[in-house]
Amino acid sequence: MTSLTASHAADLVAALLFILSLAGLSQHRTSRAGVVYGIAGMALVLVATVVVAAQSITAGAVALIVLAMALGAAMGLWRARRVEMTQMPELIAVLHSFVGLAAVLVGWNSYLEVESHGSAQTEIGADLLGIHHAEVFIGIFIGAVTFTGSIVAFLKLSARIKSRPLTLPGKNALNIGALVAFVALTAWFTVSPNLPLMIAVTALALALGWHLVASIGGGDMPVVVSMLNSYSGWAAAAAGFLLDNNLLIVTGALVGSSGAYLSYIMCKAMNRSFLSVIAGGFGIEAPSGGEEEHGEHREVRAAEAAEMLAQARSVIITPGYGMAVAQAQHPVAELTRRLRERGVEVRFGVHPVAGRLPGHMNVLLAEAKVPYDIVLEMDEINDDFADTSVVLVIGANDTVNPAATDDPSSPIAGMPVLRVWEAEQVVVFKRSMASGYAGVQNPLFFRENSSMLFGDAKHSVEEILQALGTDGRPEAAPSTRQATVPSH
Ligand code: NDP
Repeated sequence: MTSLTASHAADLVAALLFILSLAGLSQHRTSRAGVVYGIAGMALVLVATVVVAAQSITAGAVALIVLAMALGAAMGLWRARRVEMTQMPELIAVLHSFVGLAAVLVGWNSYLEVESHGSAQTEIGADLLGIHHAEVFIGIFIGAVTFTGSIVAFLKLSARIKSRPLTLPGKNALNIGALVAFVALTAWFTVSPNLPLMIAVTALALALGWHLVASIGGGDMPVVVSMLNSYSGWAAAAAGFLLDNNLLIVTGALVGSSGAYLSYIMCKAMNRSFLSVIAGGFGIEAPSGGEEEHGEHREVRAAEAAEMLAQARSVIITPGYGMAVAQAQHPVAELTRRLRERGVEVRFGVHPVAGRLPGHMNVLLAEAKVPYDIVLEMDEINDDFADTSVVLVIGANDTVNPAATDDPSSPIAGMPVLRVWEAEQVVVFKRSMASGYAGVQNPLFFRENSSMLFGDAKHSVEEILQALGTDGRPEAAPSTRQATVPSH
């Protein structure tokens, strides 16, 4: 068997491993196997690529490839070990920007190689040259949009810039104008390729990527992350065409289509139009205010919350981003275990965009060994709140905000939320009256049946556990207080 056919076989096996990986990642139980398939596929093609390359290039060039791979692997391991779960979306955004940048560099390299030296010295026939020109342009365009879009997403997700949507006058016309200009430039370039056009399309796509993501904000950011994931896949596929690499085309298409499908699912979950979000918030008006307070709230201490739980028949826990920040999942799992031992029905209600990345809460709860069968999705549990004694809102805010259903002028109006306020009592665990990710005040905090338990969520749950004691009986609790805590 020649090394080329061996490399084709490696590509085929790797493509199958990537498909198995995606299938595995779609369920908790099989997700670990999914990751292993992905690692195996990637390791296989890396080895095959170096082995094949080693036959046609100098030993020095092979050494450079190995050095680059070792450096990349060391940096990847270092970041992966240090990154906090709450920083995962930012890390993913940075990684997408690398894919976009790589596609831009591949496009430029291909242009310089073919256009500068003439097609005669390359394997591209004169009749296919027009197609090659279009591939270069499309690859650079998708790559550059992904690159700057991902950088803006990183800056927003890491709170280095405000997450509010940028609303330039005529923003929709700007986006459509950029797309029309791209089509016109591509047609021009296929007829007469030249350096100024290359510079123009790169600059245009960089600006469009920046503007598209800057125009989207608040609660729509989860869709942006999965959308950029999709763009990075298409950028990789475009690079695959330029490099004549079938595996890159297949892998890029897998990432591109699964990212697009995830964006679609998240848009449905948030009642947003898929097309309007991918078009940079096309048609979405700028949010108006939403920061003002709505009256007085009630405050409880951990001992009082323990008392409520001790008397509860059924409890639903709705976790959110704050549970991840506080790393409260282990005491929450212990609280669940103790209450269930006492015969209290305990379930979890997980909103599709709770936390900062798809499946964030499920990962944390699985890590703390909360049984899968009591972790329910929003649609599965939303009708059960009305028949629930106590809801514990642990570090969630936007995903339990009644303004989404009650206030048509709210920036999150129309987004489906967990209807926690329908329960007999609601205890909200957070540190202050500050708003959530979307920057919208939450009327839930001021409802008659809601009480605020201020403090770090992990600390508060541990205090409840202490108050409950090992036999589950709470110590005597002081009475409820009225309070006004300043928002920060
Ligand atoms: P939110 O981001 O709306 O609110 C989290 C709350 O947690 C805050 O109000 C904060 O209040 C509280 N909190 C933070 N740290 C702690 C702590 N140590 N202890 C106790 N409370 C704490 O959370 P949700 O999960 O409800 O909503 C997710 C939001 O993020 C949505 O708007 C979603 O669109 C967006 N998003 C989701 C992504 C995804 O893929 N899932 C990606 C990007 C954005 P305080 O400061 O007062 O403690």
